[in-house]
Amino acid sequence: MIPRAIARWQSELAAALTRPEELLARLGLDPATLPLAASPFALRVPLAYVDRMRRCDREDPLLRQVLPVGEEHHLAPGFSRDPVGDLAAATTPGLLRKYRGRALLVVTGACPIHCRYCFRRHFPYREHAGEQAWDAALAAVAADGSVQEVILSGGDPLTLSDDRLAGLVQRVAAIPHVRRLRVHTRAPVALPSRVDEGFLSWLETCPLQTVVVLHANHPAEVDDAVSRATRELARTGVTLLNQAVLLRGVNDDARVLAELSDRLFQSRVLPYYLHQLDPVQGAAHFQVADDSARALLAALRERLPGYLVPRLVRELRGAPSKLPL
Ligand SMILES: *Cc1c(COP(=O)(O)O)cnc(C)c1O
Ligand code: SF4
Repeated sequence: MIPRAIARWQSELAAALTRPEELLARLGLDPATLPLAASPFALRVPLAYVDRMRRCDREDPLLRQVLPVGEEHHLAPGFSRDPVGDLAAATTPGLLRKYRGRALLVVTGACPIHCRYCFRRHFPYREHAGEQAWDAALAAVAADGSVQEVILSGGDPLTLSDDRLAGLVQRVAAIPHVRRLRVHTRAPVALPSRVDEGFLSWLETCPLQTVVVLHANHPAEVDDAVSRATRELARTGVTLLNQAVLLRGVNDDARVLAELSDRLFQSRVLPYYLHQLDPVQGAAHFQVADDSARALLAALRERLPGYLVPRLVRELRGAPSKLPL
């Protein structure tokens, strides 16, 4: 068999930065002036994302999302390694069941970018993710006729090659009671080259009605390449939504959130959720108080048409849905 050529996005992914010093050097910042800290959840950021950061600005909202800093080592009360009860929800390894009608498959632990506030930054992917776990997870979905929607998550499912993704989705689509496919991914934002010809032509033939939920937190993340990628995704007929996380020093500003909604809509994406931060260990410095979050939402409602205002929600362990704040 002739091995497939490596796609451009795959080489870009392999070239993602993993050393903070290298990232800072590219931005013209002196590491000695920033409180860096080593972390087992290492830096990872593609150059396509770095290119959207402002040079010589240590407060840049994109940099803040990816740079491991000393504050991550402060232990804050209430912040834990399993902030939303994922471990208890994994009734089968790799399959999280929290809400009626939906089952979430942890497809992989790999991500194109490592977000410091990630609620799964301590998730034991080794025990859950990967092809060995898919068999049992898919068997569990097939055995439960109440599951109408399968959500591919992770990690980021778009770190899988097109072939592996297509193989997985074919197996999902073969389950008669599954009617919808949802893909939770940050790849089109972190690495827009992922949305290439091969991926788009597969998506067009995808047998299930498909929702792609993106993750962008700041309008500067949606540059022209990202906008082009999402508009191409839209042309395949999928529904495109965005979830953002409310993050101190990144997007806790009504003007920034309004610009994000506006930019997303120009790119054929509707805002879906604005998540209050999940209290994951290492991310307390991103927390925005509930009162401030509600005030931000009120300000957004005054500025934007209703369809551009995301739902402000929080996830509580054991609750039957995401909850309005
Ligand atoms: C968030 C989440 C979903 C999706 O919830 P929606 O409100 O439908 O977006 C499904 N399953 C799990 C385990 C989740 O954490
Ligand atoms: S892309 Fe998503 S899953 Fe991956 S680190 Fe970022 S928030 Fe977490």
